[in-house]
Amino acid sequence: MTPPRILIVEDEEALTILLKYNLESEGYSVQITDRAEEAELVLSENPPDLVLLDWMLPGMSGIELCRRMRTRAQTERLPVIMLTARGEETERIRGLATGADDFVVKPFSVPELMARVRALLRRANPELTQAKLSAGDIELDRETHRVRRGSRELHLGPTEFRLLEFLMQSPGRVFTREQLLDGVWGRDVYVDERTVDVHIGRLRKAINRGTAKDPIRTVRGTGYAFDEKFARGRN
Ligand code: CA
Repeated sequence: MTPPRILIVEDEEALTILLKYNLESEGYSVQITDRAEEAELVLSENPPDLVLLDWMLPGMSGIELCRRMRTRAQTERLPVIMLTARGEETERIRGLATGADDFVVKPFSVPELMARVRALLRRANPELTQAKLSAGDIELDRETHRVRRGSRELHLGPTEFRLLEFLMQSPGRVFTREQLLDGVWGRDVYVDERTVDVHIGRLRKAINRGTAKDPIRTVRGTGYAFDEKFARGRN
């Protein structure tokens, strides 16, 4: 699963840079534009998982864009956080009435906005952000970073943990080495595709003991998958 994508529609360049930097540090993939008209194009071609939308923009306003989004099936339910310099109660109500899910008044605290982004994404896509993943007899806790298999606690390195988490999110789906590098190591890191094999090897060694069934399937010529039957069964 790729990281959640966030579209920022904001004409204050300094704020856009600050938001992009902070969102990327939290692992989101960020796209930016300073025009509602351009945002509409992005929204129709490749809708993100969440939109940070400035209220006042040159040309079409943020309010108008939000209203239009709500009339289209594709973006009807897409989470929107409205950013505005005005904080009057009536304006606030007007913002929410256009269909925004949340409302942040400038100047705002960045950690506060990050918390709202997380909360909204969690509400919209619970499977992306639920705290515990379980498959067969394996349980992975994203908050405590603990992994158990049956009654045994597993000790995984940080890369093996992320690799297992990534695979467990989509049981049955076959990932190429390149997709695993993008999803687990990140797009900007240069590592050889064979690195994936090395870490899959370490992960298998950590989770499989004795005659325990291997939940990771090697798909010859393609890559790896988390076994769907294992995920459904109790083993
Ligand atoms: Ca503005």
